[in-house]
Amino acid sequence: MKIAILSRNKNLYSTRRLIEACEKRGHEPMVLDALRTYMDIASNKPEAHFKGKVLPSFDAIIPRIGASVTFYGTAVLRQFEVMGSFPLNESVAISRSRDKLRSLQLLARKGVGLPNTGFANSPDDVQDLIKMVGGAPLVVKLLEGTQGIGVVLAETKKAAESVIEAFMGLKANILVQEYIKESSGADIRCLVIDGKVVAAMKRQAQVGEFRSNLHRGGSATLIKITPAERATAVKAANVMGLNVAGVDLLRSARGPLVMEVNSSPGLKGIEEATGKDIADMIIEFIEKTAKPHKTKTKGKG
Ligand code: ADP
Repeated sequence: MKIAILSRNKNLYSTRRLIEACEKRGHEPMVLDALRTYMDIASNKPEAHFKGKVLPSFDAIIPRIGASVTFYGTAVLRQFEVMGSFPLNESVAISRSRDKLRSLQLLARKGVGLPNTGFANSPDDVQDLIKMVGGAPLVVKLLEGTQGIGVVLAETKKAAESVIEAFMGLKANILVQEYIKESSGADIRCLVIDGKVVAAMKRQAQVGEFRSNLHRGGSATLIKITPAERATAVKAANVMGLNVAGVDLLRSARGPLVMEVNSSPGLKGIEEATGKDIADMIIEFIEKTAKPHKTKTKGKG
């Protein structure tokens, strides 16, 4: 099969592993920087171009679209969908998962466990907002943040008020969330492919830090997850309409709570922690599933 990988850099670990897996399984991979891919959208023969050349038609597209280029990257992916290529994850599902607020609302509607979370606009509503999520300590999250940047733990009510008011003063959109103490600086990343958790790792924050992101110095280890955690991760990926997803869970006293569903999960941490060949599983899934014009929008919203 001809497989295009939308990635800004072919030397990134995940991109490299996907190229290797394609080649090992007898496919022809091509890495395309989405920002250098442009398109003829309105003709009756839609085309995609790359650095001056018309691109061939691809059987499948693997989107590895960074958060900062979601708008342009999903437009490029959508163009390939129109042209009949099979997307590993659909453009609609990627856009949906990139909006933290919209994702939580969709997950809540389907009964997926979540930390109590509030969203407000006016500084006049801060007192009630804090009360609504159960008071301090609480977590304040910038909607545009990734890799743990813009996630703040406010230990007291006074600190929470100041941080929320400061963000609001800067016109930044923030979520205010119950702090799950029992998780003790750890979260669980479940890698879901085609409705199954194929690998799971525990990420533990550094001493003195509550954010367990590997980019924030967290460490990853293999973990055995419970049936409830497995079911929650699968359901979350399904609600988002993602074939491949990294679902982040917190272990709480009331069971697994979903923090985030990632549509371009990094492969390095999870392959190293679990010793599993996730790239190979992804290509195997594409072989099994890719058919021309097989894009149907899954889920709603
Ligand atoms: P990002 O998308 O920037 O990674 P997250 O929402 O995943 O932001 O938060 C970063 C980290 O902070 C998480 O991996 C987790 O370790 C910790 N964290 C986030 N929300 C909570 C919470 N409500 N309770 C406890 N820890 C949390």
